Parts: sequence; C-alpha cells; structure tokens
Amino acid sequence: MASTSRIIIRKDALKHNVRFIRSVVNPDTVISAVIKGNAYGHGVSVIIPALEELGIHHFSVYSSAEAREACQHRGKHTTIMVMGFIDEGDLEWIIRNEIEFYVSHPLQLEQALTKARSMHKDARIHLDIETGMYRTGLTLPQLKQAAVVINRNRDFLTIRGAASHFAGAESIANHMRIKKQYAVFNKRIRMLQESGIHPETKHIASSAAMINYPETQMDLVRTGVLIYGYWPTKETFIHYTHRRKDKTDPLRRALSWVTRVMLTKDIPEGEFIGYGLNYQAQQKMRIMVLPVGYCNGYSRSLSNNGHVIVRGMRSPVIGMVNMNMIICDITDNPAVRPGDEVTLIGRQGDAEISFSSFAEMNNSLNYEILARLPDNIDRIILNN
Ligand SMILES: *Cc1c(COP(=O)(O)O)cnc(C)c1O
Repeated sequence: MASTSRIIIRKDALKHNVRFIRSVVNPDTVISAVIKGNAYGHGVSVIIPALEELGIHHFSVYSSAEAREACQHRGKHTTIMVMGFIDEGDLEWIIRNEIEFYVSHPLQLEQALTKARSMHKDARIHLDIETGMYRTGLTLPQLKQAAVVINRNRDFLTIRGAASHFAGAESIANHMRIKKQYAVFNKRIRMLQESGIHPETKHIASSAAMINYPETQMDLVRTGVLIYGYWPTKETFIHYTHRRKDKTDPLRRALSWVTRVMLTKDIPEGEFIGYGLNYQAQQKMRIMVLPVGYCNGYSRSLSNNGHVIVRGMRSPVIGMVNMNMIICDITDNPAVRPGDEVTLIGRQGDAEISFSSFAEMNNSLNYEILARLPDNIDRIILNN
C-alpha cells in the first residue's frame, strides 16, 4: 500500500555530490558514506544501491540494528562499519557477517574477544581513540591495556582501523581544540605502532574536517551530510567558497518530499477552520487538505507558519498541524484539484521550499530535520 506522501531521491544529485567529494578528497583516501539515521532520512534501501553504482563500497552506520538493515541492501564487495552501539547479543551476528565495528571501551574489547574465540573467527575492529572530545573512545591507559590484550590474541582480533572524531570541525571557534585532537591522534597511533599494532585504516575526518582541515583526511573519510547535498554548517560553505572564484554551491539537494491534494473546500467568511480558534476566515476562502501531519514528520511548529507548493504557487499552512493532516489556503489558486501533486520540500516550477527554510521554520538543524523524516514514508529514486 502506498504511503500518504513520498520522498523522492534524485540520483543525478547524488552523483554530482559524490563527484564533488572526490574532487576535494585525496585520490588514495577511501570515502565511507555515513548512512546512520536511515541515511539521514533518505532511506538506506535506495541510498546504498545508488551509491554503490557510483563506486562507493564503504558504509558507516551507528548501531548493530542499522548494520543489519544495511546488510540487506549491500552488494558483495561492500564493507559496513558500526561506529557506535552494539548490543552484546548482536556480536555473534556482527562477527559472522564480517561487519567492522568500533571498540570504544575495554569491556567491549573483552566481549568481542570472548565471542570471537568461541566462534573461531576474528572480530574486525577499529580502535576508537579518545583524543579530546570526551564522548566515546579509549583513554591512554585503556589503549595501552588494549594493546596488551590485542597482542596476546592476534588470531581473534583484526585491527582494521584506528578512529577518532573531532569535537566540532565545522566551526573555526574550535580551531585549537581540533589541532590538538589531531596531534593526540597521531601520537596514539605511533604508540600503537611501537607496540607492534598497525591499524590498517586511520580515520578521523567527517565532512566538515575533510573540507576545513584537508590534512586530516588520512586513509578514509566518513562523510554523511555532503553526500545528500547539505553543508555541515553555513560557516563550512563560506569557508569553502571563500577560497574560490566561483561562489555557487557545488552541492545539490538529493531529496524532495511530495504528497497529493486530498480534497478542496469553500469556506464562508467568518468561520473557524480546523481545531479550536486557531484560524478564522477573514473572507470567503478556499482550502485544500493534505494527508500529512506530525506523525509523518511534518512538525507542529509549522502550524500557521509553514508553506507548501501546488500548481507552481506557494500556499500557506493554516491552523494547527494535525497528526495526519494539514490544511492550506488556496484562495488565490482556484485551479487546484484533488490529486494534484503538492511539494512539501523541494522545487516545483519557479517556486521552492528549500530545505533550510523548512528547517528554519522548524527552528532546527538540517541534520535533525533529515533524521526525523519517518521510515514509513515511501522512498523513490529518480534515475535522471
Ligand atoms: C555522523 C558522523 C559522521 C559524519 O558526519 P557528517 O557531518 O554528516 O559528515 C562521521 N563520523 C562520526 C563518528 C559520526 O557520528
């Protein structure tokens, strides 16, 4: 059964963005596409095959559950790496399917080793190293202890990588902290090498770092937001274009969100529309009802505030966003009919609801809005 709205992904935009990323990343550096949060709301089931076609064969997810979903859509030669949480009960599946995963705590190393030994198969781990973000990662004493454990258990632990994460590479305000983290990361890797451990892939950079600090790209970059066509922050975009003649945005938004008009209706002057007293018709009006609401990720904060596009014209949301419906004013757009396509995010004709304006109306970050798009909306990939 079709969902009441559809998220459309344009493959040409993904292609364009991947090409841009390749142009700023060292040719020897692997690009890992970050697809946590259902590929930032774009839909893992469409994003993995599309990116594989574009030559990306490394994907980063957050959890074992996300790895399992990614596994269902990946091709034979694609690597999946879990950067975050794995329930102990999922370790067997992870090791059996040769999923790579971060070890961020000594207890996790212990659990991985125990499981790998019982399965007579190696766990493919990335040592997550504390470098100054103070979120996850092995502290220096923990790392030294881990090195001892690894050296005693070579058969069951393959050190696929060493990883860390910057605490805000998107803002120049954090410059000193980033520099320091990078220095600490390199020092920790030297320490590992001196104890005979040679992580195959060293990685620390996300989208913002790979743009703002290209020297931190190392063996692999974990890039998410750029792939989908967004900048980590406006500051990163300005920093990038500042150094170039061409000031146009090299990225293209891959996603748009559309639904259809459910019905239209004439409203007499003076009547209240929708729940309560939130909106009163000051004149004779015409409205349309759309089958999306806050249960589909259309936030209540867009009540009396959001806009959509129908027949090429912007149309304001009036009254409250309901759980499954919104009501929009089409008084000035009388040709609208039930079944007409309506754009909630994206472009139609000359009109556009840009993602950033949508996020601004919502008073929230691109990342958050994207990640909040629910899984139960159909994702459709457009090939051109
Ligand atoms: C989300 C995430 C990334 C990707 O961040 P972008 O800003 O989307 O490129 C990289 N590394 C880790 C550890 C992450 O959690």
